[in-house]
Amino acid sequence: MINFDNSATTRTFDESANVALHYMLSQYYNPSSAYSVAVESEKDIKRARKRIMSAINADSGSIIYTSGATESNNMAFSGALQSLRAKGRIIIGSTEHPSVYEVANSYAKIGFDVEFASVNADGRIDLDVFRDLLTPNTQFVSIMLVNNEVGAINDIHTLHKYAKQANPQCIFHVDGVQGFLKVPFNANDCDLFSISGHKFNAPKGVGALYVGKDVKFAGGQLGGGQEGGLRSGTTNTPGIMAMDKSIEIYSDSSEEFIQSMQACKLRLAKNMAAIKDTVLNGPPAESGAPHILNISFLGVRSEVLLHALDARGILVATGSACSSHKNSNNRVLDAMNIKGPRQEGAVRFSFSPTNTIDEVDTVSSIIEENVLLLRRYKKR
Ligand code: PMP
Repeated sequence: MINFDNSATTRTFDESANVALHYMLSQYYNPSSAYSVAVESEKDIKRARKRIMSAINADSGSIIYTSGATESNNMAFSGALQSLRAKGRIIIGSTEHPSVYEVANSYAKIGFDVEFASVNADGRIDLDVFRDLLTPNTQFVSIMLVNNEVGAINDIHTLHKYAKQANPQCIFHVDGVQGFLKVPFNANDCDLFSISGHKFNAPKGVGALYVGKDVKFAGGQLGGGQEGGLRSGTTNTPGIMAMDKSIEIYSDSSEEFIQSMQACKLRLAKNMAAIKDTVLNGPPAESGAPHILNISFLGVRSEVLLHALDARGILVATGSACSSHKNSNNRVLDAMNIKGPRQEGAVRFSFSPTNTIDEVDTVSSIIEENVLLLRRYKKR
């Protein structure tokens, strides 16, 4: 099996899975308990919080552990907005993940003024358009660091600066899921930052929300008061500590991992450019995120190609996994004005640090074979 769908999810590193086992079988105590073995777990988790903070260069603020980025993103909205007295403006990017987009729509229904910032042809938020949408009344902004379908990297530093110029009280949330550990980020450029473990070789069902020091934040679910009273529920020690191990592995090999994913991406882009009637979607291959490449094969339906590759043990995506069960147009590609045959033939390839150039070359020749075959069928 060759997995080029790592933006959907990744295989947990063996070392991280072993850490989870340790916290299930041996060190399984509830970190909120008072006896000494449980206090050890609490200390481990405290160290793990610090590692997330240092991965985003945060010297202050806090980490709330969650079940993943969907929860972190939902909580970003509710925690920031629930204590406000008046309903003002919310701005999100037009290409945000459903866990931001659908939440923003739900706030529109209860009276907030929700605006969608458009993107340019590469999939990056247009800075001028964003600036024009800002008002002194803008209470909340949510923008993704890296787009999950085409790998466009947003200029969060400038967007954050503009938002604070318009309203210093505005809370600026970054959905960091696809960028965390893969593109540089500084926590000074946000108030809230979401991550999800399974996107970087940690288990599913664990994630976090970073909250900046001076942010007025009410948190999420109520109950036993865990996570500083901001997100109740017995602490998921195995998941949190396994995620910590994956962050440690990424951080220790950061340069090597990024170069390895980037090399796969550039090789695949070059191989695909040699096939007639292919178009790159998103930023030029050298400038987007190191692990995501989106290519349209004109005259081919991407889901037919996906199944042909699946039959050969190769995993890729059409659109994102989250939207693949819906029969509508792809909202992200629509927003980039990618329509018709170019949208129908769009395939997303996404890499993890364990993919190799040999895999890229194997996949490339199987794709070429299938694309030529499918185009011939279509002409009959
Ligand atoms: N945001 C982005 C950009 C994503 O790619 C994803 C996962 N596809 C999420 C949020 C949601 O993450 P999870 O499914 O782990 O909750």
